[in-house]
Amino acid sequence: MVPAGLIAKILRATEAQIGEIARSMGLPDQRHIATVEIQRNSSSIVRRNWHLLPYEQLCELLGWDAKTMDFRLNEDDGLWSKLGGYKPKCPPVHYAAPTPAARARAAEIARILKEELGDQINAPAEEPFGFTQRFDQKMQRPEGPSDAFSFRMVFPYLMRYGDPLIGDDVDGISQGYLEQLAASGINAIWLVGVLYTLYPWDLAPDLSVGWEKRLENLNRLVERCGILGIEVLLYFNEPRAMPPAFFDKHPELRGVNETPGRAPVLPNVVALCTSTKPVQDFIVNGVRHVFEKVPKLGGAFTIFYSESLTNCYSRKYTKDGVDEEFLLRTDGTGTDPNKPVVKACPRCLERGPEVVCAEVCTLIEKGMREAGSKGKFILYVWSTPPEWMPGIIQRLPQSTWVQCVSEWGKTFTRGDYTGKVNEYSISIIGPSELSLGQWKLSQARGLKTIAKMQAANTYELNTVPYIPALRRVAEHLENVANAKVDGITLGWTAGGSPSPNLELVGEFCRSPRPTVPEAMRNVAVRRFGEAAADGVVEAWNLLSDAYGEFPFDIDVCYNGPQCLGPSNLLYAKPSGFVATQVGFAFDDLDGWRGPYSAQTLQSQFQKLSDLWEKGVEALDRLRKSHPSEAMEDEWRVAEACRIHFRSAANQIQFVRTRQSDVTTARKILHDELDLARRAYALVLKDSRIGFETTDQYEYLRFDLAEKILNCRQVLSEMK
Ligand SMILES: [Zn+2]
Repeated sequence: MVPAGLIAKILRATEAQIGEIARSMGLPDQRHIATVEIQRNSSSIVRRNWHLLPYEQLCELLGWDAKTMDFRLNEDDGLWSKLGGYKPKCPPVHYAAPTPAARARAAEIARILKEELGDQINAPAEEPFGFTQRFDQKMQRPEGPSDAFSFRMVFPYLMRYGDPLIGDDVDGISQGYLEQLAASGINAIWLVGVLYTLYPWDLAPDLSVGWEKRLENLNRLVERCGILGIEVLLYFNEPRAMPPAFFDKHPELRGVNETPGRAPVLPNVVALCTSTKPVQDFIVNGVRHVFEKVPKLGGAFTIFYSESLTNCYSRKYTKDGVDEEFLLRTDGTGTDPNKPVVKACPRCLERGPEVVCAEVCTLIEKGMREAGSKGKFILYVWSTPPEWMPGIIQRLPQSTWVQCVSEWGKTFTRGDYTGKVNEYSISIIGPSELSLGQWKLSQARGLKTIAKMQAANTYELNTVPYIPALRRVAEHLENVANAKVDGITLGWTAGGSPSPNLELVGEFCRSPRPTVPEAMRNVAVRRFGEAAADGVVEAWNLLSDAYGEFPFDIDVCYNGPQCLGPSNLLYAKPSGFVATQVGFAFDDLDGWRGPYSAQTLQSQFQKLSDLWEKGVEALDRLRKSHPSEAMEDEWRVAEACRIHFRSAANQIQFVRTRQSDVTTARKILHDELDLARRAYALVLKDSRIGFETTDQYEYLRFDLAEKILNCRQVLSEMK
């Protein structure tokens, strides 16, 4: 992940000393690692070293100052909370010459790796981020006129989340990648825009340093995309809350202050009150500035009810102005009297959520129109309380597009559990009654509508480029086409890799619209040829059937062991660590299972992996009877999913049995060894496996080697 020279510098060693330690453990010579790769992989590097290095050494490793680290932790898609909302105290790590015991252990590690991986330890691999070269291959476009879905958006694979416009990240969006998106039928991408970094705001000029460069980069990206018919939109989650010190100078702009109440999982910031004129001016002028400087920008979307604190109604309050949800205990058993009360902003409380939230939209749209932009303004409803929506829809600017999570609120049953989905599901097929209702209300006002769905992958399993449960995606697309929405957003940050799933989008834009089986077959013919198409569709159907068993719950998605899959380490005894949102899973079964019983969670993952295996076997037969690179890839992605599902079932069973049934636990350890070896072989061939856009590499080949060592270690402890 980082060059040995850099490791040596941090540890106060020489490169030769680091190299010698690596060789003593049987590791191959290090590949060349470019500086750009370190920044592309910075979240992974932070996560990997979070429990190992003190803050100062972490900064040194990444070449960041404390301010940059702070910004990244707060702005890189919830990185701070993904890391657990605390920094473990770590003493500085410095080089010391290996003791005889350390040398012996290193030799043992080398021996085990050789035993388990053989020559594969030195095998050539598609290096991390090597997948970008795959995107240079030309893709066939579906033919025919299009009618449905005039707007089709994804988040670019490989794009950094926080402050993506500084540096040369946007140049990492390759021409080949954009061409593949266009060929799949995608005509818009989005990036995060933090307004005060794009506009010299007179109240906080320090924050906007570099705005010229950011807008220059944005302009270049907009131009490049424009040639291919792809629009670029910015996501404005505005106004961003400010540190308490800001309000010493501007006390009149002070809105809701929910920290330190919500600390430590959220940054210590206070809302800017949008019911004040200077804050309103900031939004209008800031947006106008951006659209004046980047006139071809495709538009903007906003979320106002939000996980981050923005306007004073980013949360819900009672009539008395209390944030009741915050008072709830984390385990849901009533309120916690020790928690400080978070109070609403008195100015905004008087105006009500509908007025305040709709006004944020009006201000953004006003800035766009004052700049002469005809771009789209999109309100992404996301988790907004449904009871607010009629009042908000009524007050929105006439040019608003209303985007809802298609499946939000849909009821489903998995095993003995029945629940309601919120978002991030491919296994549950939308739309829900709730979204249909919100689209209807919007359509009745003459507003355009967008369905947000996950098409390629999701937090159900985010470390594969796509989940080949194509029929579920196709059915979802057909349903939202029937609901007559004007556009589709095909995922949040996950799912921007070119894939058969995304290619379905092009199919459902065609006129006349194909049926679900026809659409799947058309994609299969283009990718695998006429002779193999029916077989592939059959395999996709098997995988789609299996995927209906996924034990969905947002807690399982975020905390469960399925995303880290075979790379997640096992512990002979309870570790006591708590799983974090899409960060660390540890052995936190209670955190993994959400509302499921441990037994049901285990049996659902077992059922899923058993049924999924039938689809993988079908693809395995096809790669022998109809060999092609595309078929090999398809099998590999499906096999990676199988390994993750099976490993999830294994890990749940392991935690349940490790202290009561050693025979079973040992059997699982052997199976986990096997899965880690298999995953290692897949990762050598496909650098997309283990990668997720905003979390970057959740695992690399040597994490799987570590898992192998871990299994052997735990086996030796559990006799
Ligand atoms: Zn306010």
